[in-house]
Amino acid sequence: MKHLIPYLQDDQKAADYLRQVRWPDGVTCPRCGSDAVESRERCDNGLQRFSCVPCAGRLGQQFAMFTDWTSSIFEESKLRPLDWLLVMGLWQLKLNATDIAAAADIQERTAQRCINLLDGGIYETYHLDPTRQLEHQVEADECYQSAGSKGLPREVERREREPRQRGLQLRGRATAELGRPPLLGLVQRRDKTDQDAPAAQVYLEVLENVRTATIKPIITAKVKGGAQFFTDEYNIYHFTEADYDHRTVNHGAGEYARRDPDGTCVHCNTMEGLWSGLRNFLDHFRGISQRFLHLRVARYEFLHNHGHLHWRQVCEAALRCIFSTTGDYWRRMAHQHRRMPLTLCYR
Ligand SMILES: [Zn+2]
Repeated sequence: MKHLIPYLQDDQKAADYLRQVRWPDGVTCPRCGSDAVESRERCDNGLQRFSCVPCAGRLGQQFAMFTDWTSSIFEESKLRPLDWLLVMGLWQLKLNATDIAAAADIQERTAQRCINLLDGGIYETYHLDPTRQLEHQVEADECYQSAGSKGLPREVERREREPRQRGLQLRGRATAELGRPPLLGLVQRRDKTDQDAPAAQVYLEVLENVRTATIKPIITAKVKGGAQFFTDEYNIYHFTEADYDHRTVNHGAGEYARRDPDGTCVHCNTMEGLWSGLRNFLDHFRGISQRFLHLRVARYEFLHNHGHLHWRQVCEAALRCIFSTTGDYWRRMAHQHRRMPLTLCYR
């Protein structure tokens, strides 16, 4: 791979490529936003140094330095630009930390930190983006993902006193507290009449439980009013009748798809297909902590929604998201023992 792609040949080219994605219209100062910046000498790892003229004037100094990575998610990383680009490419292939470490020849702990930063950056910017909404024909469904306390020895110990009952049918609906957090999936069907239409757009949210009170604010925020809304007959969705053209299939009676008199196909098969894709993806992580589940789910969501693009376009879209944050979310989350509650995220 290194020899095929010019910007994967050395750190300077990798740094130049990343800079071009971060500042397509020219470098601006991360402190004041001014474009009156002067190039200085490069760092040892190939990153370009700059000095901001207005900032230097304001501070009464000769220079006010920053680099390609100042105030970005990569700022504190010791990994070189070339390694980061390789990790990005492997991240995009939906690999776990062990495989990324082997392929990029870095330590597994480093790879773990890299994927948490990247997934965290995507979660914070792409997943939580309030402007991303679904419309036209939207299917909703829920599924349950086993997720424990991997990586948190004290939590594991606490829970091991009351072992999870594997393989047994739990009475009622599973919850995060019971070790099987529910996921809500919303998917806008792909417009099949338009050849250039993007992939079916999906929104996936890890939940504490599946009560109407939990899912209602999410559906209201994510699905535009007036959309056709397809679900099974599960009663948590009944509230949607007021705002949407809500149609249900009766799975209990063996009905999985039907065509209504107005020609509308009523089913949740798009979402069902997505669940199996997600399960395949999550299986690579061989036991996943509830703490990280939503980050991995966000990566799947992002990669699925960009699935119609060339891999290089996907890489650049991911980088643009990641460069739009300083990585605050991940830094705050690193100190939490559980997933941050959603209320903290939807400010
Ligand atoms: Zn400045």
